[in-house]
Amino acid sequence: MSDASGITDVTIIGGGPTGLFAAFYAGLRGVSCRIVDALPQLGGQLMALYPEKYVFDVGGLPRILAKDLAKNMIEQGTQFGPEVVLGEEVQRLEPDGDHIRLVTQKGEYLTKTVVITAGKGALNPRVLECPGWNEHAGDGGGVHTHVRQPEDFRGKRVLLVGGGDSAVDWVLGLKGVASEVTLIHRRPEFRAHKASVEQMWKAAEAGEVAVKTPYEVRSIHGRAGCVAKATIYNNDTNEDVEMEVDAVVALLGFKPDLGPIGNWGLELEKNTIKVSQLMETNLPGVYAAGDVVHYPGKLELIATGYGEAAIAVNNAVHHINPKARVNPGHSTNLKIFKQDD
Ligand SMILES: Cc1cc2nc3c(=O)[nH]c(=O)nc-3n(C[C@H](O)[C@H](O)[C@H](O)COP(=O)(O)OP(=O)(O)OC[C@H]3O[C@@H](n4cnc5c(N)ncnc54)[C@H](O)[C@@H]3O)c2cc1C
Repeated sequence: MSDASGITDVTIIGGGPTGLFAAFYAGLRGVSCRIVDALPQLGGQLMALYPEKYVFDVGGLPRILAKDLAKNMIEQGTQFGPEVVLGEEVQRLEPDGDHIRLVTQKGEYLTKTVVITAGKGALNPRVLECPGWNEHAGDGGGVHTHVRQPEDFRGKRVLLVGGGDSAVDWVLGLKGVASEVTLIHRRPEFRAHKASVEQMWKAAEAGEVAVKTPYEVRSIHGRAGCVAKATIYNNDTNEDVEMEVDAVVALLGFKPDLGPIGNWGLELEKNTIKVSQLMETNLPGVYAAGDVVHYPGKLELIATGYGEAAIAVNNAVHHINPKARVNPGHSTNLKIFKQDD
């Protein structure tokens, strides 16, 4: 929470895993904190892109659904009561005397420091640029850029498009839930994990799903505002095939786009923010962590984001109060958790 003047110690832009862990650390250090996220929910990519997938590479959790990991992270990250502002994209970041002013489409927020944990920026999935896509976008239209939950597709004829992990995983995830699952990809090779691709081909041989390459979508057609048919074409022979479908799901990844963040005067490299070992950006009081940052050796993983969040927040605390140590100590010994030295 901010003080009576509305000024927060640390404002975190982005409520994904890195931002939530940053909020946890702000609480642990006893500073006031606000999280701002453009999406209507916390959890970042885990909730927006792959809630039903298992994550295996977070320390201490051998296997956990992304949505359950997000739930745990939200519980941990909000336990000290940060102010949570959802559905607001930070559009401007500018110095304001000793403070920093953040401007969203709905309001303005003053803060002493900022930790940018904006991931890939606003999550803009790639869509199909074919006739019929835009007409059927939106609730109930039948075109999608991700599978939120398999049950949404129960009993439906689903056309999946893509060649990466999401596409192949959802062929397997929707098998037995959707009445028909067809995957098309513009190349014969799939970029997905080898074991999943093998599983997919086995399911195709067993007639449980259909996989067609090298195919692309030419057009989507509907009835009463809902998808009813798709025309796909073989990009070798140019031959068209018409398919009756109830849903088209394009799993084509994301356009890396920092959006407004690119205009804040930050030093960027490859569409990410350059940071020091202390997770400082080139702007005083502005730190960054998680997928949004670049430094030599950077890995875009949840585990990496956690460590970077801890470094960013502890250095932000020291920036606000130079007498405060950077090192937070061990949680096992902290009074805030009612532990003794
Ligand atoms: C299909 C898939 C599977 C994956 N599997 C794994 C895995 O098994 N293990 C693993 O370690 N990693 C995995 N990842 C990667 C992992 O999800 C990311 O590394 C992680 O989400 C990065 O966290 P983050 O908090 O830095 O960013 P994000 O999760 O991207 O969160 C950033 C948040 O910032 C918000 N935001 C952006 N710009 C603004 C703005 N201007 N104003 C307000 N809010 C803003 C966004 O809305 C978003 O909620 C996977 C990714 C995908 C797509």
